[in-house]
Amino acid sequence: MVKRQKKIVRKLKKSHAWIACLIYFVVMVVAAGVIFTLLSQLGYYIVQSKLSSEYEIIQYMAKTYEKQSEAGTVEMSEGNGTVEREFFVRDKSSEKILCANGENTCSDEGGEVLLTSLSEKVRVYQDANNGYISASGYGTVAIDKKGIWQELKRIKEVNKDTFQKVENSDGKYMDEDGILKIGKTMTIRLPVWMAVEIKEGTQEYIGKAHLEINLADLTVFSMCVAILALLAFLFFIVILVSAIRGVLIQRRMFTMFFTDMATNGHNWMWFLLRGEQFLRKRSSAKDTYAVVNLVFVNYRNFCVCHSIEAGERMLKKVYSLLSSHCKKKEMVAHVSNSNFALLLQFEDMDRLVIRIREILKELEQIDTDHRFGFQVGISSIDIQKNEKDKVVRRKNLDLELEYNNACTARATLSDSEESGVAVFDEKLVEEQKWIDLVTERQKTALEQEEFLVYYQPKYDPGTDQLKGAEALIRWQSDEMGFVPPGRFIPIFEKNGFITEIDHYMLEHVAKDQKGWLDQGYQCVPVSVNVSRAHFIESDLAEQIRDIVDKVGTPHEYIELELTESAFFDDKKALINTITKLKEYGFSVSMDDFGSGYSSLNSLKDLPLDVLKLDAEFFRGDTRGKRGELVVSEAIRLAKSLNMRTVAEGVEEKGQVDFLAEQGCDMIQGYYYAKPMPKNEYEQRING
Ligand code: C2E
Ligand code: CA
Ligand code: CA
Repeated sequence: MVKRQKKIVRKLKKSHAWIACLIYFVVMVVAAGVIFTLLSQLGYYIVQSKLSSEYEIIQYMAKTYEKQSEAGTVEMSEGNGTVEREFFVRDKSSEKILCANGENTCSDEGGEVLLTSLSEKVRVYQDANNGYISASGYGTVAIDKKGIWQELKRIKEVNKDTFQKVENSDGKYMDEDGILKIGKTMTIRLPVWMAVEIKEGTQEYIGKAHLEINLADLTVFSMCVAILALLAFLFFIVILVSAIRGVLIQRRMFTMFFTDMATNGHNWMWFLLRGEQFLRKRSSAKDTYAVVNLVFVNYRNFCVCHSIEAGERMLKKVYSLLSSHCKKKEMVAHVSNSNFALLLQFEDMDRLVIRIREILKELEQIDTDHRFGFQVGISSIDIQKNEKDKVVRRKNLDLELEYNNACTARATLSDSEESGVAVFDEKLVEEQKWIDLVTERQKTALEQEEFLVYYQPKYDPGTDQLKGAEALIRWQSDEMGFVPPGRFIPIFEKNGFITEIDHYMLEHVAKDQKGWLDQGYQCVPVSVNVSRAHFIESDLAEQIRDIVDKVGTPHEYIELELTESAFFDDKKALINTITKLKEYGFSVSMDDFGSGYSSLNSLKDLPLDVLKLDAEFFRGDTRGKRGELVVSEAIRLAKSLNMRTVAEGVEEKGQVDFLAEQGCDMIQGYYYAKPMPKNEYEQRING
């Protein structure tokens, strides 16, 4: 899930920037292309129409010349009697000039121009003095722009004086030749020679034409340029604004994506992405970091007792206290509900633990009316070395996995509500793997009867007679071998499978007892452990009765052991269950008496039959005078409450003698017998 989110963020980040840039670039290129094409079309149209009208004049002159030459009346001096233009006529085959009028400045450079308005190709020659116009290879006209500026400069230079002198009737200035008019109709004349075939193509009439570009043309052209430029500018602005908006929206989206709603601080996604990025790019690969999982233990309870809003206010306080403790290159984020993630720098793990404990002290007092618990799991990120044993930046870093390790370490504290710190190590990985394996196998193991019942006999220390036994589970697994209960019972207690185990054991013991009774063996009561988790069920007594009755075992041969810790739960329900069990004829014992908190108080209210003194009484420091005193008092107390006593974990003869002296009813310990398989126990009751 997180990986997918990470991918989306990365994609979004990349695609947004690229798409915006690409679209912007493409649009600008297209817009520039469109403007350039429009302007060149407009310029070409102006030039075309001008040249066409000039060509019409040259054509007219050529026709007039043709007629006059046929009539023998050519008048050269008056410019062919029509329009005052320089021209000459050339014989096409001999290249000889047959007739000329005015100065012939026609050069040899020439080409063909397509005049679309006339839909014909016309031969043009450059002027030898001012060769501004030429025909390009595609039939179009090329005008030398530099030439235009030069021409303008020249005209201005030549007419420096005339500008001021000559004034026409409109009050506008113009020179004597009418070349340049200042005012609305300033004109630039660019000479070009245009050829017309006459005398059935044998001769060429070449007249001097002028491409006249006046102020009006330039005004239209420049207006178009201005309008297009304005449009382009507006377009550019619109695109720019939308691009900026896009970037801002993207930024806001990212801020939202990375903001935690409850604390207004950073969230898990931010922690993951920025954390990984930071660790990969950090300036010194030698800096060591640890990922921390911090849990606000009482958060849910606090929300239940107050409100979610009040809970979130607390989360905010926690977040701001944590961020105030974070240094420049450290990070904190709120992951979910009661979970926070931190990335902390450290040199020495012990010092980091001390630092965290100090933070926890402050956190515990974050609210004046409450004292909260906070639990922390730490996972240090291993540094990586290359072949030369040099520390390098880790490339395969998975922050999520490191956080998960920190959570695993933290979970080891979850049995208590007190504040605490746990550091992750490889042992925890092994433990976790074991838990996973056991959880995975539990169901099939039950179906395939891999769980075995072992019996540990209980003896009367006064007479050495067998008085009872306790049924203890063992797991004979093909995959895992022979597994003692300490390795799997706590796991079943946590995952809830223990209730099925308790039923399984009860049913097997009932069956065994029934079988032995039927065979006439000297059966004694066998006690079966009932887990604390089982006691939540209100019909537990009925369930037990039904299982035993289904097999048909008399109830007096079954005893039920409840652990001392169960007596702290719902006392009323417990009394109710014990009372019912007793009514059904079962014996009930309190297991592990003295192992945890004193439950002397519970003793007087609970109608129990047997008190089992915990093995701890007969081990280590508790041995000796003080220990003996406690044991004898406990036996005395049990007797005064009409309860029998069983001493567990007794291994030595001295202890047996002492217990016999004190009037202890039974001993269950290695001194007499270890827990044994069914067939071995069978021999003891058959003896
Ligand atoms: P428990 O109910 O207190 O059982 C007594 C434990 O003390 C047994 O360990 C037994 O082997 C051990 N023991 C007895 N005498 C001696 C002795 O002289 N020296 C030493 N060192 N140990 C002695 P075991 O069989 O490993 O069981 C451990 C715990 O697992 C049990 O403690 C009980 O809490 C749980 N357990 C075992 N079988 C079941 C079961 O069927 N259901 C449930 N709910 N829990 C079970
Ligand atoms: Ca027990
Ligand atoms: Ca016990």
